[in-house]
Amino acid sequence: MATNLDYYAVLEVSRDADGTEIKKAYRRLAMKYHPDRNPGDTEAETRFKEINEAYDVLKDDQKRAAYDRFGHAAFEGGGPGAGPGGFDFGGGGLGDIFEQMFGDMMGGRRGGRRAGADLQVQVSITFAEAFSGVKKQITVPTRVTCESCDGTGSADKDQPPEVCPSCHGAGKVRAQQGFFFVERPCPTCHGSGRLIRNPCKVCHGTGTVEKNRTLEVAIPAGVEDGTRIRLSGEGEAGGAGVTPGDLYVHISVEPHPLFQRDGANIYCRVPVRMTQAALGTEIEVPVVDGSRTKVKIPAGTQTGENFRLRGKGFSVLRSSARGDMYIQVVVETPRHLTRRQRELLEEFEADGGGHDKGSPESTGFFSKVKDFFEGKL
Ligand SMILES: [Zn+2]
Ligand SMILES: [Zn+2]
Repeated sequence: MATNLDYYAVLEVSRDADGTEIKKAYRRLAMKYHPDRNPGDTEAETRFKEINEAYDVLKDDQKRAAYDRFGHAAFEGGGPGAGPGGFDFGGGGLGDIFEQMFGDMMGGRRGGRRAGADLQVQVSITFAEAFSGVKKQITVPTRVTCESCDGTGSADKDQPPEVCPSCHGAGKVRAQQGFFFVERPCPTCHGSGRLIRNPCKVCHGTGTVEKNRTLEVAIPAGVEDGTRIRLSGEGEAGGAGVTPGDLYVHISVEPHPLFQRDGANIYCRVPVRMTQAALGTEIEVPVVDGSRTKVKIPAGTQTGENFRLRGKGFSVLRSSARGDMYIQVVVETPRHLTRRQRELLEEFEADGGGHDKGSPESTGFFSKVKDFFEGKL
């Protein structure tokens, strides 16, 4: 989890809050954002995780002291990969404590690759933007070299980071575990091989600070809700000699009041008056690109009939193909008839308008009903 949360802000307590206050704040917030109380609410879920993360550190005096002193650097997983981190806890002999404190992070490095953290951002676009493609400016928090200490992590320019006396700069130590010797990151220097006596106040010894970066993402025409775009190397910088992480842009597409989407096809439900459907007509329908087009509705059109507008759907990603647009007809029965309208329809009915060839569906249905009652079906 690559976070740069302010744990005090997360728990809504002051920096000098005591254990009881922190516990109280945690209980209150954990109750409020508990997933059981907020089913399906991903924001509450994220908050709940953050609250637990913050409390996990602040409830423990040692972790809290480390956090107060070094910020997130105290818990970051990266050894040399995390940049020039430095720890001065007053020499060796604290191995067990450190193992407890940093136990989590030891398994946290990925496959030996030195890389900055991957970042995730959420971008919301409209249905029309998904149709046409769009360029979006996004702001990404990232870590850049700390100007105050020129990235050394040391507050004192006359006292640059020293080679760690415990591991002699190797960043690793051998420890006995039962009959075996295992190699683990040096607890004194947190695997960096260096020791900073007086960490920089601005970057807490990490040599990097957080800064917002704006970049433009070209979202291609045809993206679907939930698409994830990976921007290789646009994640966190991670420091000198380190491969930057990747940036993942999660796209959510807002629904449209007129159009629905299924893959590359677009559906639009268009109500047509009963008389139009019976007599036939031409209707004007909207297209997602903002234009309009005419569709012939032949005499005798029924509810649910689709009329295809070829190539008016979404682009298919990584292809020149396009989906189609379908006009789905819904025949609307008139309401609140005037006296004259009623007379006309009564005349129509008396003329046999609703029978035999004119309404094959009803005729077929009622002849089956007759068969049913006569025991033939
Ligand atoms: Zn060391
Ligand atoms: Zn600094």
